[in-house]
Amino acid sequence: MRSVSIFGATGSIGQNTIDLIARDPEAYDVVALTGARNIKQLAHDARRLKADIAVTAHEELLPDLRAALDGSGVEAAAGAKALDEAAGRPADWVMSAIVGAAGLAPGLRALEQGATLALANKESLVCAGALMLKMAQANKARLLPVDSEHSAVFQALTGEDIASVERIIITASGGAFRDWPIEKLASATLAEASSHPNWDMGQRITIDSASMFNKAMELIETKEFFGVESSSIEALVHPESLIHAMVGFRDGALMAHVGPHDMRHAIGFALHWPMRKELPVERLDLAAIGQLTFRAPCEQRWPALRLAREVMETGGMAGAIFNASKEIALDGFIDGRLRFTEMAGIVEDVLTKLTGESDHINATMTLDNVAQIDHLARIEAQASINKRAG
Ligand code: NDP
Ligand code: MG
Repeated sequence: MRSVSIFGATGSIGQNTIDLIARDPEAYDVVALTGARNIKQLAHDARRLKADIAVTAHEELLPDLRAALDGSGVEAAAGAKALDEAAGRPADWVMSAIVGAAGLAPGLRALEQGATLALANKESLVCAGALMLKMAQANKARLLPVDSEHSAVFQALTGEDIASVERIIITASGGAFRDWPIEKLASATLAEASSHPNWDMGQRITIDSASMFNKAMELIETKEFFGVESSSIEALVHPESLIHAMVGFRDGALMAHVGPHDMRHAIGFALHWPMRKELPVERLDLAAIGQLTFRAPCEQRWPALRLAREVMETGGMAGAIFNASKEIALDGFIDGRLRFTEMAGIVEDVLTKLTGESDHINATMTLDNVAQIDHLARIEAQASINKRAG
């Protein structure tokens, strides 16, 4: 039996992970499940998977969670400290699927106790890639990618020497506004930005797909995870989303990973690695699909891609600044304070201001320093939003 914990169990990735685990309950001993607002789902899954503990991030929801778990034998806990304690409980395999920078601290804690960390939370690598890798190495813990593109690259690299890699191409569907006239983007509504042509995901990542902030984060994630030069990483628009990534080698070969748009492939790959086991995903009928198409990404339509290049070149704390200001700009769009096209401007303002201050950008990468720069970037982003509104 393998012991497993799932952080962000109530979200889109968390639920897909539970779907796989619940198919083979005898194989897993569930240690901790965590969520935030969705107490009903958290309690339901903690009961049926017989978890040791269920944790909500919000302290004020503890009475609700306790009531929902009454008589189940599952421990209930709430708040940041409880999350940290649950993340420190030994588990062989941990899914990191909290959304946003809030996923960083529990992920680090899981690595500290030597778990294999299946990483969906790309923000951890964007904010603090060097810290994550150092923590994994120091504790002989393993990081496995769950983001579909990075899982695809990981799979294409199996048995290969990273030194012979010439380029890594990650694909992008282009999101909700791929075919919109650029002038129309400023009037895009929240509902329009929240629907994805191919993937069924949480709302925040779906909007980030439309703005390509998701792909921008993934370019940075690629650099951090695989340790390659930023100049060798490319994004490619591929509307069918069937090729997730390609790795180009120095002999000119391109290894492409092709698969259906179902996150249970990448989650299941990380769950069973280094073995491959049967997964409940569709088998593609390529003759019926007929053709796969590609386009160069347009940086005028998706300025987030240009900002990602700047972040990769600056290095240090630039990723934490980028992520935090992006999270606030996204809140601003969701709350109706910003237009869709204004998000990139907010992130650029904050990056320009804070990366110009060398003590910030060159600070040693510790969890405290990342939290501090994250906090500062959020304040600057709010100020930039207020300035626009005023
Ligand atoms: P969701 O929004 O669907 O779920 C997020 C999860 O995090 C929920 O369990 C939520 O709890 C919890 N949560 C929210 N805020 C906090 C907080 N402050 N502290 C602790 N927990 C919190 O997101 P997704 O599942 O879509 O994405 C999760 C991560 O995986 C993200 O980093 C995303 O970029 C990445 N990812 C997602 C993909 C997808 O297909 N969805 C694909 C590739 C990567 P609750 O719902 O109870 O409030
Ligand atoms: Mg992805």
